[in-house]
Amino acid sequence: MKTLAVAILAVASLMLALPVQAEVPPCQPTFSGYSWAQMPIRYAVKDAILRDDSRRAAEMWRSLGLQFQEDPAAISTIWASPIGGSGAVTYLAIQHPPHIFAFTIRMDTTVIPPSERAAVLAHELGHAIGLDHPNPICSDTIMWTALKLFPGDLRARDQLYPSPFRIFLPSL
Ligand SMILES: [Zn+2]
Repeated sequence: MKTLAVAILAVASLMLALPVQAEVPPCQPTFSGYSWAQMPIRYAVKDAILRDDSRRAAEMWRSLGLQFQEDPAAISTIWASPIGGSGAVTYLAIQHPPHIFAFTIRMDTTVIPPSERAAVLAHELGHAIGLDHPNPICSDTIMWTALKLFPGDLRARDQLYPSPFRIFLPSL
């Protein structure tokens, strides 16, 4: 029987809620180098305070055709817990690189106000599907603005998850 190596990759996340400015260039998607081998991506919400916002965040990515499914028994989890400094953080478990096996998202609800939680969780789910923060500064991805999904996120989806993974082909 094979022994499976599981690496834990921590992806720190800060609030990047900067105003979108016209002179800022479009984003080049930046990837962690890992992606999911199959969908739907199942996740469990461990703290009820984040349940509705987690559903909204998953729905944002579902609107781009990526399949998320809430499942109380899932090994990928979303927690409301203090982090110390940053407002939210995502950990990825990598099994058989380059494939993502599970994720853990922790959000400090004493730092992130209720009105921002769904968008921040959508940003964290971006990490959970394999996206990094763009560099340099750019204007049209939730991985920079943490506000909503933008056309840059559509381009990232197209590169990370070509058609077998997508249930339909929406556009922004
Ligand atoms: Zn981040």
